[in-house]
Order: sequence, then structure tokens, then C-alpha cells
Amino acid sequence: MPDISEPEERSIRGYVNSQYPEDDQAVLVQKVRSRRVLGRRRDLYDVHCAQSRWWVITDPTNLYSQDDFPQIEQALTFHIGLGAVLAERSRSALEDAETEAQVASSWRRFQQALDTMNDAEESEDFQAVGVKCRDALIALAKDHAVAGWLGAVTEPPKAADFRGWGNIFAERLSEGRMRNYLKALVDKTWDLTVWLQHNSNATPLDADIVLEATGQLIGALAKLIHRQEVGEPARCPRCDSYRVREDVENDDVNEGFWNSDVCAACGWRSERVSTSWANHFEGTDLIGYLSNARTGVSDRLHPKLERVDEHEHEHEREPE
Ligand SMILES: [Zn+2]
Repeated sequence: MPDISEPEERSIRGYVNSQYPEDDQAVLVQKVRSRRVLGRRRDLYDVHCAQSRWWVITDPTNLYSQDDFPQIEQALTFHIGLGAVLAERSRSALEDAETEAQVASSWRRFQQALDTMNDAEESEDFQAVGVKCRDALIALAKDHAVAGWLGAVTEPPKAADFRGWGNIFAERLSEGRMRNYLKALVDKTWDLTVWLQHNSNATPLDADIVLEATGQLIGALAKLIHRQEVGEPARCPRCDSYRVREDVENDDVNEGFWNSDVCAACGWRSERVSTSWANHFEGTDLIGYLSNARTGVSDRLHPKLERVDEHEHEHEREPE
């Protein structure tokens, strides 16, 4: 068993005690080993409390019950997987595919910035991260310069003037405090990417913070654009809940289905509308649809899949 320093022991003990009730505090902290996984070192500890036993794994520190994970390897696998999922979610992916489709070409450039960061060693590499972040923002402006929700722009800024476009987007997409926030985000984020690009003493931390800021801005604009295009979410007319979902029930008598909206909070249901399969599939190539997934008329049953696919194809055709 490897040595454990006193501060290390104290910090792990303090962590476990902060997570658990006073009558179940840590009694013994033993270091099991250290392991480097995906370039990052994790320390693994076996902690005995008065009534329970835990594995503690660092970076980020978390604890796992030995009842749930009898072997420390199981806990480590879970820990690494959990960390990867959280990192992916917060950084290189937007919350859902529809939102991502709003800003696909911009997001692709942002992912190039992340790739640049992963390989970066010297200050010029970190400056290059700034250049890619700027490119991502300019791509965002170009993609939406003639968007339907934008309407007529009397004096359009130059194509590369993200600050100009971003302020117009903020006007169209939001109001009040949200608009002020968005404008500040546009100005400050742009400013930060330009600063990084020209900073010959750029550090890894500088580049990391600029990446976070750029991702945050692209994500916020994508969500507001998405709202502009699909409108506010439906609310229950009886109780105002947002938990209104489409419900499709088979209708054997009429050989079709019933369609209605149901509130998950209070049980309210809209009037059921009956559609026969014959009408639903009228004029469509049913055999072709069944033999070739996701290209047919699943519009009503799988609206999300259909829309995302269309966006993907659009962007495949787009010149780089
Ligand atoms: Zn309701």
C-alpha cells in the first residue's frame, strides 16, 4: 500500500466527512494507488467510516459506496466514464441535436478550436485557439445574416463584423435584461478572442477561458434562435404546466391512431383526433419507407429525427 502524506490524508478525510452525517465519520483512510488515465492522474483511496466503506477517486474528487462497487476498478471505470460524459456535455456538445443544428457550421469550427487546444504546447498554439474561436463566431454571423427570424436589416454590417451582427441578433432574439446580457456577452467574448489571437504570451489558461466563453455564447445564441423558430413551449390550458406531451394511441377499429396532447401534471387531455393509417401514408412509398429507415413519412411519430436529418444534409452540401 503506497504512503499517504498527512495533508493528503486530512483532505480525503475532510472530503468524506463533509459528505456524510456526523455519526458516520471517516475512521481510516488508506491510499490504494495512483493511476494515470487519459493523461490525467487519479488517486484512489479506501475509506472506512464508522458504519460504511467508500472508494474515493480524485480529479474531480468523488466517492462511491463499496456496497455498489465491490471492486475499486469498477468504481474507477464509472468515475472515468462519468467525467467524460460531464465534460462532453458541458463543452463540445449542445444540449440537444435540434439546438445544435441552428449553429452547425459555427459549432464545427468551435470543435476545431477544441482540437487545436488538445494539441497545443506553445503560446502560438494558444493564440491559434483564439483565431479558431473568432472563426466560429464569424461563421455564426454569416449563417444567420439572411435568416427568416432576422427580418430586414437596413444597414448590414460587414460579413466579418461579428460584433455588429451579434448586437443585431440580440435585438431580434431577446429583450430587457436578457438582451443586455447577450449584448455584453457578444462584445466581451469577441474582445477576448481578438486579445488571445494577438497575445504572444498566451497561456493554456487564457486559451481555456476563451474557449469556455466562446462555447457559452454560441450555446446561448443557438437556444434563442431555436426558440424564435419553434416558439415558446406549449402549456397546459388547465394548470399552466409545461409538461404537455403528444400522445399517440393505436385505433384498431378505424385502422389508424388517435392523436392528442396530454398534461403530465394534471392529466388534462386535448380532444382526440383520429387518423387512419391509409390517410396518414397516402401518396407515400410505404414499402420504400419500411425498407429504408428515416427517409419516409415518420414526420408525425418522429418529428425530431426528421428535422435533424434535414439539417445535416443541408450542411453536408455547404462549401467550406
Ligand atoms: Zn395540466
